[in-house]
Amino acid sequence: MSQLISRRPLYGLLAGAALMTACAASPQSGERSAGGSGASAPVTVPSLPPFEASGNASMDAWREDFANRAIANGRDPVVVYETLSSISPLDLYLSEDVGVANTGIEDQAEFAKPIWDYVESAVTEGRKTRGAERLAELTTTFDQIEAEYGVSRETLIAIWAMETNLGSYIGNFDAANTLANMAVEGRRRTLAENELTALMKILERGEVDRDDLVSGWAGAMGQTQFMPSTFLSYAVDFDGDGEKDLWNSAPDALASAANYLKASGYQKGLPWGIEVIAPADFDWSLADGEDRRLSTWASYGLTPMTGSGFEAPQTAYAEFWLPTGATGPKYLLFRNFDVYKAYNRSDSYAFAVGLLSDGVAGQIGPVAVWPTDLELLTRRDIMVLQDNLNQLGFDAGAVDGIAGRGTKGALRRFQKANNIDPADGYPTTNALQQVLSAR
Ligand code: CA
Repeated sequence: MSQLISRRPLYGLLAGAALMTACAASPQSGERSAGGSGASAPVTVPSLPPFEASGNASMDAWREDFANRAIANGRDPVVVYETLSSISPLDLYLSEDVGVANTGIEDQAEFAKPIWDYVESAVTEGRKTRGAERLAELTTTFDQIEAEYGVSRETLIAIWAMETNLGSYIGNFDAANTLANMAVEGRRRTLAENELTALMKILERGEVDRDDLVSGWAGAMGQTQFMPSTFLSYAVDFDGDGEKDLWNSAPDALASAANYLKASGYQKGLPWGIEVIAPADFDWSLADGEDRRLSTWASYGLTPMTGSGFEAPQTAYAEFWLPTGATGPKYLLFRNFDVYKAYNRSDSYAFAVGLLSDGVAGQIGPVAVWPTDLELLTRRDIMVLQDNLNQLGFDAGAVDGIAGRGTKGALRRFQKANNIDPADGYPTTNALQQVLSAR
């Protein structure tokens, strides 16, 4: 704390009375004011000097309120001021033209593109080649990380490639500012405020300098893109220089990601997924959601796409996944696939991580051809599909335009109940027509 004070001219802005109260109220402060150090001094809620106007009235009102709540919840007033004093509206979140601004946030690529397009743009030859090079350059570091956390180097390279192109692009936003904008914009206010609180705790610990809190547009920081709360819990100093430097130190960033994945349940030695071949008369309703042992799936006739037999343990649990229904690539997914989703909850993201991790190891996939001739649904179409499935009594969950497990499962139950073959739950225009015809 005293280090922070000496480094910053911030206190020059604070009114005398507020400063004294702030220092006396701060449990980490080594400073004592002449008038506020007595044991019987009354404890008052410290007040901050006025913030300079941000140029956005909603932002100013939110900041005043949030700063007061943060202090009431025990955050250091000096850190609160330091975190929030320089925020300003970003077009990305608070543009006058709401339609344009919101498009970028709503239509995250993994939900808007067909999965084969997403895979093609994420799992590139360049990333595989450069990833394999980095793998070779950092052999010793990866040996140490694998020994300590049990997370495979190929997995970490893949995450690193997906998050920041192997550290080459870490974003150029101020994390506090982008989170403040997210809070003011409103739809993810609770998340944004929680992350801002975590940022303040990082600053209180003195782990990172205020000016070094550089992030991507959504507030994720460093080469492996940690949200502040994730940083607070899982960031490590792996190169031993005393700093948790996820921005400039690849060993710190990679070991922190390994620590996070391990805590999220990563299972050492298990594959993320195995591409399989299914018999033509397979019961597709077993797909997307039912975990069974590998030996059970094998007994149903699933065989690996490559090699003579499954190399994973027969007792391991896996889900049979049809990313594009019965006519596209098919996978058995193991526990680690879900662990990848700690980073990003979309299947497409986790799938790309898996394919990249295989790719840097020289494996090719998927072998099966994507059914690019299928007519896919827009988000609006998917909302219509979800709404109609719900009204027909097949619970598709929230009408959000995202065809996740709930929607695919509901569509599959509808198809099965109506003797539609294949009952694979894949939301095409054809499937939508069948649902609408049933109303
Ligand atoms: Ca370090």
